[in-house]
Amino acid sequence: MAENFKKFKIPSGMKDILPADAYLWQEIEDKARAAFNLYGYKPLRTPLLEEEGLFNRSLGNETEIVKKQMFVIRHGEDTYALRPEATAGVVRAYIENNLDKTDSFVKLYYFGPMFRAERPQKGRLRQFHHIGAEALGSNSPYLDSEIISLIKHILDALGISGYELKLNSLGCPEDKQKLSRILQDRLKDETEKLCPDCNERLNRNVFRVLDCKNENCKQVVSRLSLAPENYLCPECSEHFSAVKKNLDKLNINYTLSPHLVRGLDYYNRTIFEISHKDLGAQDALGAGGRYDNLIFELGGPKSGAVGFALGIERLLLVAGCRPAAAGQTKVFVVTLGEEAKKEGFQVLDKLREADIASDMDYENKSLKGQMRKANDLKVKFTILIGDEELKKQSLLLKDMASGAQEEISLDRSVEEIKKRL
Ligand SMILES: [Zn+2]
Ligand SMILES: [Zn+2]
Repeated sequence: MAENFKKFKIPSGMKDILPADAYLWQEIEDKARAAFNLYGYKPLRTPLLEEEGLFNRSLGNETEIVKKQMFVIRHGEDTYALRPEATAGVVRAYIENNLDKTDSFVKLYYFGPMFRAERPQKGRLRQFHHIGAEALGSNSPYLDSEIISLIKHILDALGISGYELKLNSLGCPEDKQKLSRILQDRLKDETEKLCPDCNERLNRNVFRVLDCKNENCKQVVSRLSLAPENYLCPECSEHFSAVKKNLDKLNINYTLSPHLVRGLDYYNRTIFEISHKDLGAQDALGAGGRYDNLIFELGGPKSGAVGFALGIERLLLVAGCRPAAAGQTKVFVVTLGEEAKKEGFQVLDKLREADIASDMDYENKSLKGQMRKANDLKVKFTILIGDEELKKQSLLLKDMASGAQEEISLDRSVEEIKKRL
């Protein structure tokens, strides 16, 4: 009698990516990788755990992520957090490995899981995945436009259309201060309409009011009339114009969105968000922007940087691509009897050594069952080995499309099959 062992469940807000979907993921990653290569970005892999302080410091203590959503792990004296996003870790790695000293300008990309302890809902997971890039060591507005062009390239490659690129500039720290005062000034008469959190944010970090999810707060924010001209200094204004002009020249459409501030403190100057109409309430496919002070604030040199991330789960919801069957098995080895199986197992090994994707039965299926399996796998050839073949040291090769069979000697089998593939 079977005992009732406990069946474990996956943690809330997490998902297993089963093979059929995993092929799609690979296709998305492959296409993104091709685009990164084309634009001169190099791969970087950073750990999933970082010191908790890194995120507090870079994302900002008042952000939703740091206040409520980090998975914090205490181990002895140390406190770590599962990364809620990758930029902070990339900048940490850039500084720690002296990448700025090897090359004054570096372009990096990454794929991987991020973790946020949010209430799981449609379009929001606790482990979600980003494709992202960071270009570190330049203030050039061409770089902002390039990174947006790179995103467009990836989205085009994935057959994604119908998205909107929202664009804004927060300016330098002084301009941000000015914008902050404008916001405080405009919002000070609306305090009773704002949620308690936003009332606190008003003085501590007024930008966070702009990304509050509360309906009343959203209404108040939507009525604010904001314009970068009112707070950008001449230099930042010129920078933003250059970004826009470059995008115009590349025929990349964008919508100017003065309410866009992005939910993280490190952003300045250009910020952007890509939304898609088919995604519903959580409509962001990805986002990014400049962070010209973060490298310095984390102990590195004073140099500008810009980056973005796209959510793989969100891309999958709107991507037009369907994968070609990956890992297609070409040959299936069918055997009759134990001796034949031993021989077949060796043939299988030789086929694989010759780079021919092949497989055999591991469930002791009947001849009929094995042939059915070969059919299901849609292989090009089956190899049949029985007593007769063993005696003759040969095998029977069947072309599954034509049904034609031929006898081939065992010692020449791999090269003969190779010729026919
Ligand atoms: Zn400025
Ligand atoms: Zn609010």
